[in-house]
Amino acid sequence: MTAKILDGKKLSEKILAGLKRKAGDLRRKGVIPRLDIVLVGKDAASRIYVRNKIRASEQIGVKGKLHSFPEKAGKEKLVSLIKKLNADKNVHGILVQLPLPKHLDEQAIIDEIAPSKDVDGLTTCSIGKLVGGEALFEPCTPKGIMKLLEHERIPLEGKNAVVIGRSNIVGKPVALMLLKRNATVTICHSKTKRLQEHTKNADILVAAVGKANFVKESMVKKGAVVIDAGINSSGGKICGDVDFARVRMKASRITPVPGGVGPLTVAMVIENTIISAERSGRRLKR
Ligand code: NDP
Repeated sequence: MTAKILDGKKLSEKILAGLKRKAGDLRRKGVIPRLDIVLVGKDAASRIYVRNKIRASEQIGVKGKLHSFPEKAGKEKLVSLIKKLNADKNVHGILVQLPLPKHLDEQAIIDEIAPSKDVDGLTTCSIGKLVGGEALFEPCTPKGIMKLLEHERIPLEGKNAVVIGRSNIVGKPVALMLLKRNATVTICHSKTKRLQEHTKNADILVAAVGKANFVKESMVKKGAVVIDAGINSSGGKICGDVDFARVRMKASRITPVPGGVGPLTVAMVIENTIISAERSGRRLKR
């Protein structure tokens, strides 16, 4: 068996084309969708992610604005900017690029973002709403994964979904979203014993570990759908968390890295910003 490759790039392009039309509609109504990104420090990967998000936004008709701070920036400066952006009716999405330098409390800073502009869906308020089943904005990587599963019409109800990773940004929210779609969900992490026993049981396996080629063929059930959220660098190349070449021979469907979940994450940031701009447009009308 050779798995069908789930082309996240192609799907993201289709989604972005639809978003471009929506951005155009908003602009004609006098609303210019705007995404503001806060970046602290010089992390090379973060700089690339931010650049990609701004570039993609601008191509779609969403104004992207970057606020760069030096590595040593204190909490007060960041909070003061976020408060200003919260109050600015021209700003629809605010995103703090993670990871932040160690001296900063990430969640405390993210929690300064107004939930109505939290397009990354990472404030405590947004996470709480996601747990309750009614997210204001779904976090972007999990939302992209769900879009891909939906687009491919992969049945989820009653299926065993196993997520490796329990971060607030990928693992936990994707598990909640799979649960909402009536999958039976198992979350594994670094303290999980006999990991393979869990992963072998997965009809849908989501890897969000952050370790190159971590998921081996022996960990995967024949015919499983394998979603690789990982972005790792190995030997100068970008690769995922899944040993793609081997697992591909066993799974029924698999996402590549690059070209899988990554482009969908960027598309979802833009989608959430447009949703926020549409909501603000409705508020202005009233
Ligand atoms: P984190 O480092 O926050 O989380 C990694 C998770 O993997 C943790 O829950 C950890 O467990 C678990 N883990 C680590 N080692 C093992 C192990 N040996 N066995 C089982 N579980 C293990 O990473 P993120 O969730 O932020 O990111 C995961 C990956 O996704 C990264 O490669 C990242 O670059 C990528 N990513 C991709 C995005 C995209 O746009 N496609 C966006 C965001 C992230 P524990 O909790 O016990 O430590």
